[in-house]
Amino acid sequence: MAEPTIFERIIDGSIPSEIVYKDDLVTAFKDIAPKAEHHILIVTNKPIPTVSDVEPCDEVMLGHLFVVAKKIATDLGVAQSGYRLIVNCGPDGGQEVPHIHMHLLAGGKLGGLGFPSKD
Ligand code: 5GP
Repeated sequence: MAEPTIFERIIDGSIPSEIVYKDDLVTAFKDIAPKAEHHILIVTNKPIPTVSDVEPCDEVMLGHLFVVAKKIATDLGVAQSGYRLIVNCGPDGGQEVPHIHMHLLAGGKLGGLGFPSKD
């Protein structure tokens, strides 16, 4: 069996994190190295490595990432002012953790496309 990803270990509680939302399909927690005032990772509980590995049967779970992103944005008070959602895929896409996740970045005007700098 493959080694659990760091995100699987956060989801099962064996690595501590600041979880902000959890249900049967996804878990959301604060990024350890935030790139914006608010930087939340919304992670599928099922450990699919990358977008290139998704199957049609994953559609509901992947759509749910957006529903949870909206909920978290609303909770943070940025639903109207705006935020950015990013899904990196593979080495050239800048993906470090091989477990599908959506970044939610918010807090003030974000820079251009790509990962915004916190500065
Ligand atoms: P990626 O580059 O794969 O799209 O994003 C991975 C993200 O996971 C990075 O923003 C990184 O800061 C975050 N990260 C890596 N390890 C941990 C960890 O142990 N805890 C938390 N909360 N975030 C992590």
